[in-house]
Amino acid sequence: MKRTHYSKDITPDMNGSTVVINGWAHEIRDFGGLSFLIVRDREGLVQVTMPKKKVAKEIIDTVKGLSRESVVSVKGEVKAMEKAPNGYEVIPTAVEILARSEAPLPLDPTGKVPADLDTRLDSRFMDLRSPEVTAVFYVRAYMIRGIREYLSSQGCLEISTPKIVATATEGGTELFPISYFEREAFLNQSPQLYKQMMMAGGMDRVYEIGPIFRAEEHATRKHLNEATSIDVELSFATHEDAMQLLENTVAYAYAYVKERCRSQLKALNLDLQVPRTPFKRLSYRQAIEIARQDPECAGLEYGDDLSTQAEHVVGQAIGEHYFIVDWPTNIRAFYSQPCDDDPSICKAFDLMHPRMELASGAQREHRYERLVKKMVEKNLDPESFKFYLDSFRYGMPPHAGWGMGAERLLQTMLNLNNIREAVLFPRDRVRLTP
Ligand code: ATP
Ligand code: MN
Repeated sequence: MKRTHYSKDITPDMNGSTVVINGWAHEIRDFGGLSFLIVRDREGLVQVTMPKKKVAKEIIDTVKGLSRESVVSVKGEVKAMEKAPNGYEVIPTAVEILARSEAPLPLDPTGKVPADLDTRLDSRFMDLRSPEVTAVFYVRAYMIRGIREYLSSQGCLEISTPKIVATATEGGTELFPISYFEREAFLNQSPQLYKQMMMAGGMDRVYEIGPIFRAEEHATRKHLNEATSIDVELSFATHEDAMQLLENTVAYAYAYVKERCRSQLKALNLDLQVPRTPFKRLSYRQAIEIARQDPECAGLEYGDDLSTQAEHVVGQAIGEHYFIVDWPTNIRAFYSQPCDDDPSICKAFDLMHPRMELASGAQREHRYERLVKKMVEKNLDPESFKFYLDSFRYGMPPHAGWGMGAERLLQTMLNLNNIREAVLFPRDRVRLTP
């Protein structure tokens, strides 16, 4: 039987029409003269109602013999029914079992028996069947779709850059080495160098949504070893241009999700507020001063990285999305451009959600000699970055850009406790399967 509708596409005013739905046996309830099968598909639940007097005995027996989470196809007549999910029920005329489920289940997709995150991740396929988890990944899909749509509308071309690379983006130790024929290679930490080279290539405005790999050892609620980065690079643009595109991208993604994922947000019990633009701009110095008011951060000095606790304190004080700007040059990546009037400060920025950092960006140093000089100062060997540096020698336009973690954006949007909830199959120090 070929599916005619998803659950959500059937409405009470279709009363009397015949439909075919496909899905999983979410619940089976038998009250003697009356039994119910709740069928679940990606979009929601359907109540299949079987009064003994109206439905053929074989159908009722088939349903009673079903194990939970078996896959079924149900053909039947729509009946408006106020108390049922979505205001209708289906009186079946045929039920086909497409696949039987074994019992017991690795976890309970109705959520009646709660499972801890590790159990859920071990049986992610089953976990995904629970409506709240489906909702998270539904929203993720729309969030990414909205961002693609927005960045494309702003004249950015989507690119794909290599994930197998010869050198680190910024040096450092957070690299996964791999064996590449006779040589050693690495999984890319960031498309940074490649998207910058696209500026020399004349692509003008680009974006990439792709994986980044970081061998961070620590087990936190906001770090993954494989994450998804939303990267943008803009030619003939300043850090202020890049920040504007970034805040508008975030606001657009929220509005896009709010408009298109109503039932999912309801399943997650969320009243999504679209952040208002422009976001506040806080200088790094101001951020340090706010953080130091917290006893735990009293020892924080100008020039230190903001600790997780410091981010938290400042986030509490601001209470909405904000930017941190005017960073000390020496704690930012070598490709950030120093300010013209005070080179100890650079044109870098971080986009912050009150809970954590979402994105980092900067106007880049596009002048070859200065870039090489900064690399040397950071103890990086210009020779191993030749492929990158060469692109600055033959006409590199001024440019700016940013990288934002998709999982962190989703985590903060949906108020998820752990970033692992925002990715289908998280990779961390201890988790390599499924
Ligand atoms: P943090 O200091 O929070 O570890 P970072 O400054 O090292 O982040 P960047 O190199 O600035 O990270 O990367 C840009 C963005 O990519 C970050 O703001 C974050 O949203 C995301 N990101 C970076 N590393 C990770 C990771 N390990 N897991 C998930 N997201 C990440
Ligand atoms: Mn950063």
